[in-house]
Amino acid sequence: MSRFLVTGGSGFIGSAFIRFLINSTNHQVINIDKLTYASTSESLEVISGNPRYEFIHGDILDERLLEKLFNDFQPNYVVHLAAESHVDHSIRNPINFIHTNIIGTYNLLEISKKYWFALNSKDRQQFKFHHISTDEVFGSLPETGLFNEDSPYDPSSPYSASKAGSDHLVRSWNRTYGLPIVISNCSNNYGPYQFPEKLIPLTLMNALEGKPIEIYGNGKNIRDWLFVEDHVRAMYAVLLNGKNGSSYSIGGNSQKTNLEVVGEICDILENILPRDPQLKSRYHDLITFVKDRPGHDLRYAIDTGKIRNNLQWQPKETFQSGLRKTVEWYIDNKAWLKNIKQSSKEL
Ligand code: NAD
Repeated sequence: MSRFLVTGGSGFIGSAFIRFLINSTNHQVINIDKLTYASTSESLEVISGNPRYEFIHGDILDERLLEKLFNDFQPNYVVHLAAESHVDHSIRNPINFIHTNIIGTYNLLEISKKYWFALNSKDRQQFKFHHISTDEVFGSLPETGLFNEDSPYDPSSPYSASKAGSDHLVRSWNRTYGLPIVISNCSNNYGPYQFPEKLIPLTLMNALEGKPIEIYGNGKNIRDWLFVEDHVRAMYAVLLNGKNGSSYSIGGNSQKTNLEVVGEICDILENILPRDPQLKSRYHDLITFVKDRPGHDLRYAIDTGKIRNNLQWQPKETFQSGLRKTVEWYIDNKAWLKNIKQSSKEL
């Protein structure tokens, strides 16, 4: 049994990771999360009463709180997900991204370093800091080619630039101070409990409300998609068995244009929840094209050879099976969507 300190564990991916740790392992978990607009308490309701889980409402910019957490909890692993994560917000208001994603990561690294130096040699050997990052740090691909661990950094948005900055900090704390680290750069995640500002849940929310489904530009931008539970298993493999100082590219080998993604969601909805025939329109008719996002990367795609070969990980879901599960989840949890919509100023 190990002790996991998870930052940002109340967000979309962090909550899936914590549900996995509590339901499928016997590890102890502390989650520190600021509870920004993007997090929901329901995502951890199923495990919140478990004695192996504790929640701390706090900010990774709060050095004193972090220091106390490290000293009291004595983590074996730090899994760092806390971040501002939405590209559109980063374009409108980049400063929050600089604070949390860069300064927040710096704080965690400094405190981890101090804590790690003071550990006995056995605990020092086991300790690892895992930074959860994105493929967006590599910028945009042309029509062919794949990102891998050696791709040069070339971020386009304030979000991806802040994540690139934090990747560099993490790597440098390894090279300069010897702090044991791993970094994973993952493609677009989707699945239950994702805040409806990102493409898939936003499309679902608007489709279910009969509102326009907006697509940036001509809808031809390509993303690689991975079901969140597959990402969580990859994270666990990278953390436990990844090589110190290394990075791992994670993806679903499911490259789709935004228009294809939205079209497939509409197809599934037509199939399982057809619109009222009196409306005389299909979900597809709700699709509308809007002005493109500035700096919109054309294409992301991932070569996952390293994690597949070295850590024997591969996704269990295809895009079709994962998307169907996701659509069914959002239909079954319309009340969750409604609550979020009512309580959030961001939607
Ligand atoms: P999210 O926005 O759903 O969750 C982020 C969480 O961090 C929220 O619970 C929020 O309250 C918390 N947080 C924000 N600022 C904080 C602070 N200062 N102190 C403490 N907590 C804070 O994001 P997500 O989609 O779950 O992404 C998690 C991580 O994975 C991020 O680092 C993101 O860059 C990375 N990532 C996301 C994707 C994706 O497709 N969603 C893909 C690759 C990598």
